[in-house]
Amino acid sequence: PPEPAKAEKQIKKTAERTPAVYVDVIRDKEIQKARLKLPILAEEQQIMEVINENPVVIIAGETGSGKTTQVPQFLYEAGYALKKQIAVTEPRRVAAVAMSRRVAEEMNLSPREVSYLIRFEGNTTDDTKIKFMTDGVLLKEVQNDFLLTKYSVVILDEAHERSVYTDILIGLLSRIVPLRHKRGDPLKLIVMSATLRIEDFTTNGRLFKKAPPVVKVDSRQFPVTVHFDKRTSDDYLKAAFEKAVKVHTKLPEGGILIFLTGQQEVNTLVKKLRKKFPLKVKIDEDIDNKPKKKKRKEVYAPEVNLDDYSVDWDNEACDQDEELSDHDDDEIDATPSVDAQPLWVLPLYSLLPTHKQNEVFKAPPGGCRLCVVSTNVAETSLTIPNIKYVVDCGRSKVKLYDKITGVTSYVVTWTSKASADQRAGRAGRTGPGHCYRLYSSAVFNDTFQNFSVPEIQQKPVDDLFLQMKCMNIDKIVNFPFPTAPDLLQLKTAEHRLEVLEALKEGKATPLGKAVAKFPVLPRFGKMLALSHQQDLLPYTICLVAALSVQEVLLERPLHDAEDKELRVKWASLRRRWAGGGNSLLLGDNMVLLRAVGAAEFANSEGRLERFCRDNGLRAKAVVEIRKLRLQLTNEIKINLPEADAVVDPRLAPPTDLQAKLLRQILLSGMGDQIARKIDDKTKFKYGYQANNMEEPVFLHSSSVLRRTLPEFVIYQEIYETNKIYMRGVTAIEPEWLPTYVPHLCNLSAPLSDPEPFYNPSNGRVYCTVTGSFGAQGWSLPNVQI
Ligand code: ADP
Ligand code: MG
Repeated sequence: PPEPAKAEKQIKKTAERTPAVYVDVIRDKEIQKARLKLPILAEEQQIMEVINENPVVIIAGETGSGKTTQVPQFLYEAGYALKKQIAVTEPRRVAAVAMSRRVAEEMNLSPREVSYLIRFEGNTTDDTKIKFMTDGVLLKEVQNDFLLTKYSVVILDEAHERSVYTDILIGLLSRIVPLRHKRGDPLKLIVMSATLRIEDFTTNGRLFKKAPPVVKVDSRQFPVTVHFDKRTSDDYLKAAFEKAVKVHTKLPEGGILIFLTGQQEVNTLVKKLRKKFPLKVKIDEDIDNKPKKKKRKEVYAPEVNLDDYSVDWDNEACDQDEELSDHDDDEIDATPSVDAQPLWVLPLYSLLPTHKQNEVFKAPPGGCRLCVVSTNVAETSLTIPNIKYVVDCGRSKVKLYDKITGVTSYVVTWTSKASADQRAGRAGRTGPGHCYRLYSSAVFNDTFQNFSVPEIQQKPVDDLFLQMKCMNIDKIVNFPFPTAPDLLQLKTAEHRLEVLEALKEGKATPLGKAVAKFPVLPRFGKMLALSHQQDLLPYTICLVAALSVQEVLLERPLHDAEDKELRVKWASLRRRWAGGGNSLLLGDNMVLLRAVGAAEFANSEGRLERFCRDNGLRAKAVVEIRKLRLQLTNEIKINLPEADAVVDPRLAPPTDLQAKLLRQILLSGMGDQIARKIDDKTKFKYGYQANNMEEPVFLHSSSVLRRTLPEFVIYQEIYETNKIYMRGVTAIEPEWLPTYVPHLCNLSAPLSDPEPFYNPSNGRVYCTVTGSFGAQGWSLPNVQI
């Protein structure tokens, strides 16, 4: 355990030995007391010396040792924010927001001075000294100012998570730092990691010529006793429930943290635990702060509303949850002892509304034991106070991506040994703890990988590829990636960007450069770039924003009895939103547009939450979409002053003509994701043949296009559960293909019959051609171009 007195001495010494500048920070007593308990405080002097003397430094230390909250403060006090800003990147938005708040609070500075910037929002100002941001945001900034001249220091936090953007930033900064040095305006790079596995950064000779020094922060962890289960049960949700019940009823006080794989599971377990330990605590609450007006108030478990229950995209994959939640409580034999203290059960996952996320940092109401059920958000990015027991299911949900076909699927797999140890470590922050692993030591030893695969090897790299091309990085294969993506991944990304006409002969085209400026995927950027006609821009912006935000329309809420009714109600509502004619052909995207438009009308009347609950929308998603729409609108306004800005988020449904044009715009961005109906209703009901895949793909039951089954469709994504499904489907006409996706068409010379003709009103010559489309060679008879 840390020794406050020793730490205090160290701080004094540091202050004496760092004479040049020392910016005073006045902290509250309580805060200062808490800080002194952090192991990193004792290392301040050493850390600052290494940073002062080296351009690049790696800091490695256990989660909770104080890296994220303290290192920016050390730098601030040493004067690094006097002329320029201190940048801190986080792979997770949750962490960027929470950490900026915490640091501002610790330093007694305003959110103007310690601020954050994430994709949808931020509060940075000219006064900002310390800026927390997501790694994606800093990568965009590199595009506009390659040398990052605003900053004196860049801290890349959570580098062990190996997020794609952090990986790229390390590569870029390995070049930017020497360039800034040459200009006589040095920039410091600090890479922070929660594990000691840092060889990818230190021994990679392409990255840094001289291996940067590594400061290891003493972990000062309390011992955590790890208990393996004798047998490994597949039903880990049930096992987690039983374990939590046992811990709560039999073991001394101390918070419980349970790791599951997804939000659906988290919500199911939260519900079950709340049912098992209903919370009705009488506490005294002084309502008006007047001592005589004391009133007794009942506190129930924090209410769970539908807003929390956004469902993972892969409904089918979650069917497993349904089975698990069907288990009768009677099956569980752990009987609560009579005097078990009440249990304060809270969910935690990244899509949870921010104010609910913050609940976990607060002390539970008097007499309650805290129990947080979390996805791996709580593994390293957030440290929850006072956890003594960790229950670890040992799995995590990962999104797998097939490099060739682009099919995504979610699978629940074993985590790595490194992750399991991180999770266990969460129990030893404030005292000795226990970690209950819901699997056997044999599984751990024989099946678990040592470390997880870096994200860059697991997802499409199109946007990175384009962004790097726009930074004039020509030979992307030679880029100093900490772990390089494989060649096939790079090749397919390059090909897709060529089809989009964002790249030509290895260079970014003017369209590509415009596209790369938008904070959305290249295919969406192209759709925006093509929308300057027929007042389409507000619709395209809305659609692109909605498609960029996860889980807008809920597919299935809780597993309650009334669910089926709700689902039927939502389905009929969506069919109504889809309308007829071109509107229906816009399909699932029309539903999305109208849902968002309607939600904004409801919001302007102050009924957003209610509307979302009644219509199966996720309220937080609607708010995010609004922010992204505003941001995209502003960016387009800067690039194109003549474009009308839409500040009012309310949006009437598009006209029939607009709906048709929107289908074409969608085609321009998703031309590589086309499927054609299979004419075999018996074997392949709702089946389609995708352009670039052998296996058939299917229209999901939630698609409004099941009624019409158009011949040609485009889809936003294909994903695999029990079958391969398309998501976000819109109908298109085959004669549009040569115009919007010429690169995938093989066209004949113009036919002489009918003759080419000149249209004086638009100055174009039209002619008729025959040809074929795509890898499947679909013939395109007599199309006019
Ligand atoms: P690291 O980055 O090394 O994992 P942090 O700097 O995130 O460590 O955390 C240091 C300490 O600050 C932890 O003990 C954590 O509990 C505490 N802490 C962080 N955020 C908050 C908060 N919002 N409220 C209370 N304590 C917090
Ligand atoms: Mg941290």
